[in-house]
Amino acid sequence: MAESRDTPDRLRHVRERVLSGFAEDDAGILVEVVSEVLAGESFTVSDLRRVGQPIVHLSDGFQVMTGYRREESLGRDLGFLMRDDTDQSEARAAREATRDGRAATIVVRNYRKDGSLFWNEQRHHPVKDGRGRVGHLVVVQRDITELVHARSANEAARQLASSLGGEGAFFSYGALLDGRGSVEVTWVHEAVRAVLGHDAQAVLGGALTELVVEEDREAFAARLEALRTGGGSRRDRYRVRTVDGRVRWVEDFAAVSWSSPEAGLVAVHGVMRDVSAEQRAGLPVGQVEAGTGLPTLSVFDDRIQQTMKRVRRTGGAAAVLVLELDNFEFVHATMDHRLGERLVREAARRLQRALRRSDTLAWLRPGAFGVVLPDLADPGAVLPAIEKLLAWITRPFEDGNVRIELSASVGVAMLPNEARAAADVRVKAEGALARAREAGGGRFAFADLDVEAAVQERSTVERELREAFSGEQFVLHYQPRIRLADGRSAGVEALVRWVHPERGLLPPAAFLPQLVRAQLSDALFEWVLKKAVEQATAWREAGTPRRVAVNIGAEALERPDLEHLVRRTLDAAQLHPGLLELELHEHTRASALEQGIDALAAVRRMGVHVALDDFGVADTNLSLLRVMPLDTLKIDRSFVSRIGEGADPCDVDMLRAMVALGHSLRLIVVAEGIETPLQRTRLEGFAVHEGQGHLFSQAVPPEYAIVDGAASSWHRRNGATPVH
Ligand code: C2E
Ligand code: MG
Ligand code: MG
Repeated sequence: MAESRDTPDRLRHVRERVLSGFAEDDAGILVEVVSEVLAGESFTVSDLRRVGQPIVHLSDGFQVMTGYRREESLGRDLGFLMRDDTDQSEARAAREATRDGRAATIVVRNYRKDGSLFWNEQRHHPVKDGRGRVGHLVVVQRDITELVHARSANEAARQLASSLGGEGAFFSYGALLDGRGSVEVTWVHEAVRAVLGHDAQAVLGGALTELVVEEDREAFAARLEALRTGGGSRRDRYRVRTVDGRVRWVEDFAAVSWSSPEAGLVAVHGVMRDVSAEQRAGLPVGQVEAGTGLPTLSVFDDRIQQTMKRVRRTGGAAAVLVLELDNFEFVHATMDHRLGERLVREAARRLQRALRRSDTLAWLRPGAFGVVLPDLADPGAVLPAIEKLLAWITRPFEDGNVRIELSASVGVAMLPNEARAAADVRVKAEGALARAREAGGGRFAFADLDVEAAVQERSTVERELREAFSGEQFVLHYQPRIRLADGRSAGVEALVRWVHPERGLLPPAAFLPQLVRAQLSDALFEWVLKKAVEQATAWREAGTPRRVAVNIGAEALERPDLEHLVRRTLDAAQLHPGLLELELHEHTRASALEQGIDALAAVRRMGVHVALDDFGVADTNLSLLRVMPLDTLKIDRSFVSRIGEGADPCDVDMLRAMVALGHSLRLIVVAEGIETPLQRTRLEGFAVHEGQGHLFSQAVPPEYAIVDGAASSWHRRNGATPVH
């Protein structure tokens, strides 16, 4: 570790500089620091000032990944892993970025020493010298073949059972989609022969598009684009030509399994099924509307039925909505047909964004959608959901130089109600919709007028909370995290406060539950993230960089755009991901964890740290702990408070065991709520890495948390006991 060397301050300084994209012009130190920052990863360092841009250093991980021994790679250009079939434009793009001093991520086909192909995700970090010229290139590499191939196979098999009905031969495949609209099949099951007549070998690579019949190519391209930009999954039908020239209908189900926005690539896994027989027999054209990829009426009714059953069995509230674009018929009649279709697709995309993953959005008829909200905390929670849907629809639609403003009306039927059949519930919602439209559109109406009256009564706190957002009444305070071994700063945690106009400074416990109920916690997360990241940038620019931890609630974890949001926020503030940490609470419900785990893993791959907060309060099962993408374990305050003066030996043992668990999972172990020197000494004895608590500092406004030790001056002025 840097601390054991003779110039720890210098090293720490250089490390921070490397993390934010700069290093000094000293290749020896650069290698040393990079090795520390990227311990265990596969990476190379190339000297760009020398002819041929030779690799001057490489990690053990790189040797393992490529099979080349160190001396076989040193002195060569990194391109030696490529072959003629590697997409050279990717490599060119990375070279251009390097020349401009920008980082870039690319995914390329590389070959190991034994000749086998692997997909290499490379992150190119140009490193500037003291005069601002790019002198070295650090390339962090990751073998993602597993993700691209094997995962495709497994995932496809798993989804097969649930996603496919009907008969007809099928096969599973994996593919990469890029920004130029090309599709590269990376893996395909040999059953492909039964559907397309071709050998697996003939379908691998870029040949799939050519098999699609001419008339369906445009729709096929739109499908790829929607998958690439919208994520999620799609099921479409189109026609392909088999090896003997016959035309067959296939139904193609694909889901995004991995994506790299920086490289502009997504990987999908899919299942393709021959549905020619169904098409011939004139059976309903599947359960999916072709233009939007949304489920149709039968799926909607089915979902309503399931929700009715569940609500009746376990209680709780749910809602069925019918949403119709108000002026759609007029727009559709007066506009270019294609534009109308694009408008509907865009509306569907927006509605999907406004909903949670567990909600259902269905296609009812042109311009009308069905929505099932299966899981509402209380009936009142339907209002924010409707407002969110309407807000998305009323944003102007831009298409070329056409700008269209739409509104929508919504009919709502709450569950449970007296209806026994799904269709009856739907009819109720349609009736309410008619009332909303008669009243002039752009509004919603409930099927049951009593429910309407009750639901409309929003709590004062919820209204105030909305005002708090618009009136910028939230502030962030920061609590330092201290490295126990040497008392130095190890970052800060951002903690939200509400400066209430009448009640003064309120702690999160006084408003978070209401905020969740009002479906505003998503908005809070966005706000906190933005503020904290901007603050971290300000600290870095002031020469006192520190990692900022942001708490993330279940609702934010469930956002489908979590990865994108984090990336966008970091990019906007130009902050290195290594200076951000997300803290997720151990009591986060399992469903949210499951949904968020991929996004968290992706965020972590960017370099953002992920911590499990309040560890010990829930019974997290150990296997979950092992698969969760974590860097840090924060032991809950309640355990720390029990190991002070006169502690029960059982409590001390318990804490020791928790720390040992963290160590064995190779996590940074942090203890929360340290209030006394005795607690600190004990924790240090258990080799807890970092601590947080009133012993060091409370959460303070940012200007008091800048320099080590400065926080205590705030305490002195404000009457708290400084102990550091
Ligand atoms: P947490 O993330 O576990 O944060 C630590 C809490 O413990 C903070 O309370 C902090 O002030 C308090 N604390 C720290 N050291 C000590 C100590 O030595 N003794 C005692 N008695 N308390 C200490 P705070 O700020 O009231 O926050 C409470 C919880 O609210 C947080 O627990 C977190 O779960 C949540 N929270 C705070 N800010 C946010 C936010 O921006 N978003 C979300 N989703 N949740 C937040
Ligand atoms: Mg926390
Ligand atoms: Mg905590």
